[in-house]
Amino acid sequence: MSNLYKGVALSSRKDITGEIATMRSMVDWLGDIAKHVEHIFCDSKAGACYTVTLKSGHWHDDLPAAIRAAGFATGGHNGIQVEADSGRGFDIDPDWPVDWLQEWETEQKATYGEVQGMTLPPGFLDRIREKVSLSDVASRWVKWDMRKSSPEKGDFWAPCPFHEETTASLHIDDRKGFYYCFGCHAKGDVISLVKEKQGLGFDHAVRQLAFLAGMDAELAPKVEATPEPQRPNLLQMKDLMVEHFDQENFLEVGVLTGWTQYIRSHDRLLRSLSWGDPDYPGHVLDLLTRMDEKKDGSIKELQDYINNKFADEAQAITEVAVFSSAKRSLGYNFVQPRNDVISVMMPFGGGFGPVYETIKAACNATPLPARRADEVWNSSVLINDILELINHSAVVICDLTGRNENVFYELGIAHAWGKPVIPITQRAEDVPFDLRHHRYLTYLNNSEGLAVLQSGLESRLKSLVGEKPWF
Ligand SMILES: [Zn+2]
Repeated sequence: MSNLYKGVALSSRKDITGEIATMRSMVDWLGDIAKHVEHIFCDSKAGACYTVTLKSGHWHDDLPAAIRAAGFATGGHNGIQVEADSGRGFDIDPDWPVDWLQEWETEQKATYGEVQGMTLPPGFLDRIREKVSLSDVASRWVKWDMRKSSPEKGDFWAPCPFHEETTASLHIDDRKGFYYCFGCHAKGDVISLVKEKQGLGFDHAVRQLAFLAGMDAELAPKVEATPEPQRPNLLQMKDLMVEHFDQENFLEVGVLTGWTQYIRSHDRLLRSLSWGDPDYPGHVLDLLTRMDEKKDGSIKELQDYINNKFADEAQAITEVAVFSSAKRSLGYNFVQPRNDVISVMMPFGGGFGPVYETIKAACNATPLPARRADEVWNSSVLINDILELINHSAVVICDLTGRNENVFYELGIAHAWGKPVIPITQRAEDVPFDLRHHRYLTYLNNSEGLAVLQSGLESRLKSLVGEKPWF
């Protein structure tokens, strides 16, 4: 028995109705490509293998992909033999889905092995894949072919975003969370999609998805319940003792630490102190290193003694350390910098709208979007939002015009956190003297001036964060 369906002859060894129906649906899937097909034969004896015979003299470069897709979509993990003239025939391996799945898994493992500097909580990546739908993310870059897709089954098809085409060769299985392109064989999961489409590193892609899934807090370093006791800095202690200790202080330390004997019998320590001899600092350091090496708790006693007795002086010494942990002391639950926006700190109102539009246009030449901080100030939300924004920033653009105090505050934090800052201003005299050695851009707030500002910013930004990919 032979069936003709949309110009394609269908036949099967046993004339089973179900097989004919499957082949009809293969023809449906082929769409326009079907006009190149003469005949499809189903050999159920050989485990439902198909032979697809092309019309003589017909060929289309999308044929292999289309036939693979049709075979896959109609449920067959079956072998397909394509007969074509001019030696163009080919076989589609019945095991291909298994092959590429295994290959894909191996590749994924290799990729995850690359993760560095990031300790992921157990099952983190699996939970991301559960929470973030692959089709949602993919829809940023593809337009679904709704004729082929069955969203209710989590089954989506679209022209592939990785190669030029008009037919829909990209298949997404939302339930399994993977994609495969029958044309260029691109494949992977939601993480690799984000990574590949945006040219990101693996950890950056994971962060972006964690943010989407509301799981980014899990990537924050755990705040220690009891902070590690800081190892005493012997040199700082020495400097402070040389500056402030008198004989009485040494004797008190001796009583507290049990080191009286050593201090009293040292032939130079107290003597060089009272005579102001140049070898005195060396003897103080010698005492400190001996205490430290002995590990009898004496160095800690001495440190406490200094902190009590010379609170103000000790404060000055530790200020440097405090400053470096300012991220935490500002009350901001610091997570690792994300560097995924360009933040813009500028006064609000007062005709800065066009300036912001100009900055946005300049950011448009880079892969990163602009985010304006004053919107946050304006609605008097938490300072945390500003800190979060700066932490997100790959670059901070600060408009110093009018010496706005919020802008200066933000600029200070950005500097302290080591973020690159581009100061801009309408008036050079608004740039504080200490900042004048930084390269800043002056501009006029008119259309000509803003055009100059835009090109100046574009070149600075491109050199800092790179250019926008062309796709
Ligand atoms: Zn492709």
